[in-house]
Amino acid sequence: FIYEDEKTTNYCPVCGTTISDAEVEYEEEETNLNYIKFKVKESGEDTIIATTRPELLCSCRIVIFNPEDERYHHLEGKHAIVPIYGHEVPIEPHPYAKPDFGSGLVMICSFGDYSDVRILRELNIEPIYAIDEKGRMNENAGKYQGLTVTEARKKIIQDLKAEGKIVKTERIKQRRPICWRSKNPIEFVPMKEYYLKQVEFKDEILRITDEMKFFASESKQILIDWINSVGIDWVISRRRFYGTEIPLWYCEGCGYVYVPEPGRYYQPWKERAPIEKCPRCGATKFRGEDRTFDTWFDSSTSEVYILGYLWDKEFFKRNFPCSLRPQGKEIVRNWLYFTMLKSYLLFGKAPFMNVWIHMHVVDEEGRKISKSRPETWIDPQDVIKRFGAEAFRIWSGLEGNITRGDIRCSFERIEGTSKFLTKLWNIARFISSFPRDYEDYELAALDRMILGRLNDLISECKIGYEEMNVFATATAIRTFTWNVFADHYIEAVKSRAYNRNGIFDPKLQRGAWYTLHTVLMTILKLLAPIAPFITEKIWLEVYTNESIHLQRFPERRVEWKSDMVNLLQRFIDFNNAIWRYKKSKGIALSQKLPVRRVYAPAELEPLRDDLKSMHRIVDLQFQIPENKEVRKLSAEVFVEE
Ligand SMILES: [Zn+2]
Ligand SMILES: [Zn+2]
Repeated sequence: FIYEDEKTTNYCPVCGTTISDAEVEYEEEETNLNYIKFKVKESGEDTIIATTRPELLCSCRIVIFNPEDERYHHLEGKHAIVPIYGHEVPIEPHPYAKPDFGSGLVMICSFGDYSDVRILRELNIEPIYAIDEKGRMNENAGKYQGLTVTEARKKIIQDLKAEGKIVKTERIKQRRPICWRSKNPIEFVPMKEYYLKQVEFKDEILRITDEMKFFASESKQILIDWINSVGIDWVISRRRFYGTEIPLWYCEGCGYVYVPEPGRYYQPWKERAPIEKCPRCGATKFRGEDRTFDTWFDSSTSEVYILGYLWDKEFFKRNFPCSLRPQGKEIVRNWLYFTMLKSYLLFGKAPFMNVWIHMHVVDEEGRKISKSRPETWIDPQDVIKRFGAEAFRIWSGLEGNITRGDIRCSFERIEGTSKFLTKLWNIARFISSFPRDYEDYELAALDRMILGRLNDLISECKIGYEEMNVFATATAIRTFTWNVFADHYIEAVKSRAYNRNGIFDPKLQRGAWYTLHTVLMTILKLLAPIAPFITEKIWLEVYTNESIHLQRFPERRVEWKSDMVNLLQRFIDFNNAIWRYKKSKGIALSQKLPVRRVYAPAELEPLRDDLKSMHRIVDLQFQIPENKEVRKLSAEVFVEE
């Protein structure tokens, strides 16, 4: 699968190494499009050729025009004379030339961009290289030798102007390839490098993408688009110092390539070859390889590494493919793709069962957060110092569904969502004050209502976790815990749980204790995967000595199923109506409701005792009032003042 070859390849002059297509990014830049006069040798006429890279004139090998472009049909088979250098190049029709770009005539150099590489290969034209490994012009550039690309461009434009060869200059925007690491333009240079085959396996690799389930499902397309765009084998050797050494030695006598025994880490650039004599020619001198691997060549091994491929074959067999790969969208084309490629070559299978792709965290204005742009920068250490890691964690779950879009981040947002943890802590502190001794208990309608709703929450969380949707799960837990359980159930059950005046049957009081503890325990278990520390702390303080992370995930309980759950919205509306009324009268929510009589919808009658104590209502009727002298608090709630 691996071979060495000299091909034109992406080269980053700043990093000083070959890079693969997966390491090339594109950025839009403004640049000059120069219209340059070329003389036609046969007719002596001037033709105009537009180019953004005049410094590559020395490597111009052919001039093309679109076969449909009638302006240039008469030039077919003739030759153009390249300014400055004076060499002759053929003029031929080729569909790559676009009639509406520049003058419609294009000079093909070795190499301005990918299309140059492709066209020269297609036409079988030997390239002339103009740029060396350091990003400077080489001897083919004549008097510009030694200049950087930018310097050479400036100088050659001056010279062309002096000769009257520049007709005009336009500002245009173009996409140019840059190095993902150092962000400077890449060049195309010939290099002898090692390649891993991939082009011939594209169809098979596309096929095994179906063996993996994607979260979100649409992220799969990023991978498919990348596989479809692969046009050259993967160049895996790099000219970097820091990297995994390529474990090879070469015989100085005959060039024999020696691959050492697997089992240990080799550093051929400083170690003696592990053999004495060349098995082919008997020579005793070896040269150690000094190149390193592409960083993705190592990273793409992570799933076989964690499954113990090299040291526990049984474990590997039982657990391959790996259950989950979570990763960012921007490294689908390298981390995910190369892991797939290797997995296919080694095992003929996809490496993962599930792939979870996340988008990015951006700042309040939707900009990429970057240390180099201080106005966007949010230091994770500052967040942890101010709010704690758990707050940061719960924020990342509650802020949005990051598998479907970017989520926005700011100190205010984190502070806001972290209030849920404080709320949870306070709820737990309140509930922990009640005994867990509730053997002989009886559930009130109110308890059955919240337990019925708890059953639904368990189902929502189960689905949420199965779909790896942290956002939906965390949001469902927060809404239930805060807006239903704390705001309404706990407020309503307080007086029965305390039962200070002994107005409730002790069995019903114990029913309140049972429900409070059961709901809290269930919330903690449901939330534990997302907020592992605060749930563990509460669990150990209030419940058992065994970690919450060793408990079974909650299941729906048949005995909690109850029609009472249908009362929930009415119950919430009733409470809100009474609270609004008390506020409008300027009295505390805990104070007695200063009205003669309250009318509630008939459906709420099962909650009578809890409602009366909760709002301190003297006379509560479950009917629509006949008396016209009532004040309407909401669609179904009335008071007689
Ligand atoms: Zn670079
Ligand atoms: Zn040899």
